[in-house]
Amino acid sequence: MAFFRIKKGIGGYMAHQAIYRKWRPMVFEDIVGQGHITQTLKNQILNDKIGHAYLFCGTRGTGKTTCAKVLSRAVNCLNPHDGSPCNECEVCKGILDGSILDVKEIDAASNNGVDNIREIRDDVRYVSTNAKYTVYIIDEVHMLSTGAFNALLKTLEEPPEHVIFILATTEAHKVPQTILSRCQRFDFKRIKPSDIILRMKEIAHGDKLNISEDAYELLGRLADGSMRDGLSILERVVSACGNSITAKNITATLGISTAESIFQITDAIEKGDVNKIISVIDNVMSDGKDLRVFIDSLIKNFRDMLICKITEDSSAMLDYNAEDMVKLKALSDKMSFEKISHATSVLSDAQADTKWMKSPRIVYELALIKLARPEYDDSPSAVMDRLASLESKVKNGAVTDTSSLSERISNLEEKVKNGITVQPTETVKKKEVTEKKKTSVRYITQFRKKNSPPTILLSRLQRIGTTYRERCATRQVT
Ligand SMILES: [Zn+2]
Repeated sequence: MAFFRIKKGIGGYMAHQAIYRKWRPMVFEDIVGQGHITQTLKNQILNDKIGHAYLFCGTRGTGKTTCAKVLSRAVNCLNPHDGSPCNECEVCKGILDGSILDVKEIDAASNNGVDNIREIRDDVRYVSTNAKYTVYIIDEVHMLSTGAFNALLKTLEEPPEHVIFILATTEAHKVPQTILSRCQRFDFKRIKPSDIILRMKEIAHGDKLNISEDAYELLGRLADGSMRDGLSILERVVSACGNSITAKNITATLGISTAESIFQITDAIEKGDVNKIISVIDNVMSDGKDLRVFIDSLIKNFRDMLICKITEDSSAMLDYNAEDMVKLKALSDKMSFEKISHATSVLSDAQADTKWMKSPRIVYELALIKLARPEYDDSPSAVMDRLASLESKVKNGAVTDTSSLSERISNLEEKVKNGITVQPTETVKKKEVTEKKKTSVRYITQFRKKNSPPTILLSRLQRIGTTYRERCATRQVT
């Protein structure tokens, strides 16, 4: 099994290393989720078709540097196994313990000047006596200055036989075309949760960690495509909770909220249940969770609901377990597109407004109340949200009491006629909400009850929508 190979490779001197370092893959076979790349590289080594310049692109934690290090040993290994380094021959060992200096790692973020690259140009002329190839791994290569790129280009144009460049970057679009065209480019993909879990299971077996299935699922999701992030989360949880890990341990250690409270609050917003919203927030706070992180998760939840609404096969795009996926779909079916997108923008605004606040709770609560009771909210997107929900009610024939709907429409008509005041979120205080509530009640009682048939209500609604959109356009209300 894979982990035995690793253990054998670097033996005993790694007792106190971080999980990520300790379990850094030593052979191509242990690099997860990038089979399309590792197989190509192995074939090149087996067929002795090694390139002189490689570009590894991809987001953080996807295995670029790890792969570069494995490749740098594989090309020099005296006894490679199926294209992977043996990690046991004198050259592999020498590279690993630092006694052979022919694999040079350069961090372009801190060595980005033309002089740094000129040093490399002078350096490449010397042929190593220890290893077949001198390998330069230039990390974050997009950080090089223009002068440095030009100097590098000269070397890449006529690379000596014994030199290999491996350039790694998270931002390939910042690398000049002249450099790109001289490299074999490999794009590292974000690692799928299932692949991350598979690797974690190997590590758990090797480190005698007892991780529950729900914990694996959560870790796979939290890693967000990055093995490094996934393993550093695991590291934090292990140091806080010991070797037995459940999903509860993880949420407690990281201060993240459970999916359950996210669904509860979304459901409360949909139902307009303000009491429930306040009580969920209370629970989040009393559990010692970070409210900001909770709101972040809630925003992500609304974004996922939008994906459910607009795509056919949303479960393939979203990382939810089967049970949560059913809940998410049910919620997204109940809410209109306008309502969900309005919720996303209101919460994102609240997040921005509270960035420097010590106790953002009141702002969050207010934002959530506005979402649950759009009648307290006069912002353009809230009005559109209300129009959409009324329109769909009338269309679906869900209106039995036309008189009360007529009142609400009159209320909206009046507001559109009088112009809508757009208030920035930060100036809205709880007190003002109470006042608005009183005004709304007055609005409703002001208008006499009419018994209009649904078709007339619908046309009135559509008229409000048109007038409102025109108003927004002429006044440039955003
Ligand atoms: Zn070897």
